[in-house]
Amino acid sequence: IDDIKTQFSECLESGFVTNNGKYVKKFELDLKEYLSSKIKPLVFCNGEMALYNLIQAWKEELGFDHNKSFKVLVPSFTFSGTVNAIVKNNLEPVFCDIDDTMTINLQKIDNVKNAKMIIAVGAYGTLPNIEQLIDFSKKYNLVLILDNAPSFGIKYKNKFPCNYNISEIWSFHATKVLSSMEGGGALSNNEKIMKRIEYLRNFGQKELVRGNIESLGLNSKMQEISAIVGIYNLSRFKETLLLRRIIIDKYKNIFNEMIEDNRIDVMRVSKNTLCNFTFYPIILKEDADNFVKYMKYKNIEVRRYYTAVHELDFYRNKYTQLNLDFTNNIKDKIVALPLHSGMSDNKIEFLFDSVKSYFN
Ligand SMILES: *Cc1c(COP(=O)(O)O)cnc(C)c1O
Repeated sequence: IDDIKTQFSECLESGFVTNNGKYVKKFELDLKEYLSSKIKPLVFCNGEMALYNLIQAWKEELGFDHNKSFKVLVPSFTFSGTVNAIVKNNLEPVFCDIDDTMTINLQKIDNVKNAKMIIAVGAYGTLPNIEQLIDFSKKYNLVLILDNAPSFGIKYKNKFPCNYNISEIWSFHATKVLSSMEGGGALSNNEKIMKRIEYLRNFGQKELVRGNIESLGLNSKMQEISAIVGIYNLSRFKETLLLRRIIIDKYKNIFNEMIEDNRIDVMRVSKNTLCNFTFYPIILKEDADNFVKYMKYKNIEVRRYYTAVHELDFYRNKYTQLNLDFTNNIKDKIVALPLHSGMSDNKIEFLFDSVKSYFN
């Protein structure tokens, strides 16, 4: 609070609390610098709306009216928000499988008919195979978008996804590693796309006196207060990631022992990337119901996250699905354990002891 209270009161006293104010602009410049990207990212009220706007911008760029549609390849194993952003754009998801990295399995995609876009997901703060994704999208002429909501600041072969010319979004939600409380960001190397999302996030207004619009934008602006918190957290983000790595290594040690004892499986992280483990997923050998109950009894909040979106009530049997064997096999066995860079050794011990005592 001490570190941001000057900006906080200045902001409230000035009355300039929103509408692309100075802190939002600064947050965008700081993000640009952090990523050493050529183009300045834009920030949004949340990650889902950043994705919604980015999809809409690409749809318009491809020449599709808002009431027209095409197919979008997307892993079923993600957060519902990924797919909601597709469907709200009047586009049609095609549910794809993942592999043991918990990211989209391109080898299993055998039908791209009428698909114009692929949206890969950086689940749990990891990254999919960026090079394969680029090859695949070129081969089939697909727009490539990365829902990188949990993975801001993660590199693939020492480069951020934006340095590979990918269109991506991040979430700065309170549960993510870089937080602005609520918030999101988007970056594309295509300047036309950046122009489009800039006016789309402001109702689609291309000029601000009469407020004329050419397309249906939904207000998705970030507030100044969020930007102030985002700027502050970004300024100590490298430190946060370092603290987090120490805790991640402790988790890895413990859970690797449990793999050897044949109790659980874990996500495979490709050697080309680091993962920030927004959560730490473990895959049980059976349905996770009892495990979740036991953790609740121990007062440890776990989530059944991510999930198979094609099985959520709204999505069930509504859209095309490819072979989803891997997703279907893990969807009821996977549990996300909490992990935070500020966790005390006591808390970490308590978590490990509780998981161990479940198996004993
Ligand atoms: C967190 C998350 C979102 C949603 O981000 P919000 O900022 O909460 O809207 C979307 N997609 C994925 C993969 C996420 O992990």
